[in-house]
Amino acid sequence: MNPIRAVKGMNDVLPAEIAGWHRVERAYGRRMALAGFREVRTPYLEATPLFVRTIGEVTDVVEKEMYSFRHRDDDLTLRPEGTAGAARAYVEHKVHDTEPVSRWYYSGPMFRAERPQKGRYRQFYQVGAEIFGDPGPACDAELIDTLVSFFSDIGVTDTDVLVNSLGGPEARARYKEALVAFFEPKRAELSDESQRRLSTNPLRILDSKSPKDIAAREGAPVITDVLEGEDLAHFNGLKAHLDALGVRYRVDPSLVRGLDYYQRTLFEIKGADAILGAGNTLCGGGRYDGMVAELGGPKVPAIGFAAGMERLLLASQATEATPVVDVCVAALGDKANPATELAVTGAALALGRDLRNAGVRTDVDGRGASLKAQLRRANALGASTMIIVGDRELADNVVEVKDLAARTQERVPRGLVVAKLAAVFEGKAR
Ligand code: ATP
Ligand code: MG
Repeated sequence: MNPIRAVKGMNDVLPAEIAGWHRVERAYGRRMALAGFREVRTPYLEATPLFVRTIGEVTDVVEKEMYSFRHRDDDLTLRPEGTAGAARAYVEHKVHDTEPVSRWYYSGPMFRAERPQKGRYRQFYQVGAEIFGDPGPACDAELIDTLVSFFSDIGVTDTDVLVNSLGGPEARARYKEALVAFFEPKRAELSDESQRRLSTNPLRILDSKSPKDIAAREGAPVITDVLEGEDLAHFNGLKAHLDALGVRYRVDPSLVRGLDYYQRTLFEIKGADAILGAGNTLCGGGRYDGMVAELGGPKVPAIGFAAGMERLLLASQATEATPVVDVCVAALGDKANPATELAVTGAALALGRDLRNAGVRTDVDGRGASLKAQLRRANALGASTMIIVGDRELADNVVEVKDLAARTQERVPRGLVVAKLAAVFEGKAR
């Protein structure tokens, strides 16, 4: 029989790898909570038109990457990103009526039917955040600064922060005209896809990874040249606030990003090393002031970002192995005497339960294995203490506590051992 395998581009995260995920997710939740963000959880499945309308019909994500299907009478799509669903929830629950500014964060799986390679998968995980109700630019700078702090929390410090502004709808319309005027005479030099997109969505040519397009866009007009009035003031404000916060960044006028909903502030954080195949973009974000109204809500400005978990993990290179438990309880009964062996195992189970209730991560080895085998298991679990419960100890109402690192051993009254170990290990879990 053929073995059944995971779907191509979708990965298992096994328990042996989970510590790094927990570390990054926890650091993220902590950092965002410090800045007044609360977690939102939206469904993995949404109505297909949600993404078509917000991300834009002529984008890679909508044209090529969505897992869309018809189920009974519904057109559904596995979410390719988190912003559209968050904005939908914000409008659906009329959150704008109850709070002037909402700060949300999320983490979870996203789905895109891309060609799988290292750092690029079909089910991948993002951490992200949205701020609704604040037009910026102060909060734009604050969001970028919060993100940089989070990266530093997880040891990702060798990064490049790129910012740009796409202006509002008018600036964008003017820029599209300038782009069409620039590319039309060299239409033949563009990739087939860009030729097609020249009339529908010329901005996408700037985002294309095709070598032909990269060559053809040499000398193309840049958006920052057509910014004026409030758009220009917004962009200057962003830069001034980033300077005030001491964030090191670079203005990259060629930064456009792959989704249609962005306006004004746009940013990206790149890692120092290219993660094979996937480039080195760790995180992307920007302002999407039109989306809430587009989804039937009032005119509410918004900004957000998303960072790829897998790429963050590759960049942060989790170091120390985390212990699975701190204490191993070994039951060493007398095999020749089933009644006392049962009593010894029972005492070990009860001690394990008491330690857990006191907040100590504990494993109880009830296999009836030799001391040598039990020590091997304790090592594999990363435990630093082993407690031995045997016939004699049970009779004397004591246990043997072995410090596995110091290779010392002491006899401790059963009534004191839980408090003693709780003082050392309590709260080590999570
Ligand atoms: P790229 O240019 O690498 O395709 P993108 O512009 O499509 O990225 P966004 O939609 O802005 O990316 O998503 C934000 C982040 O999510 C990316 O910077 C990346 O870290 C991560 N990401 C996006 N697509 C994938 C994927 N298929 N697999 C793993 N991570 C991804
Ligand atoms: Mg992409």
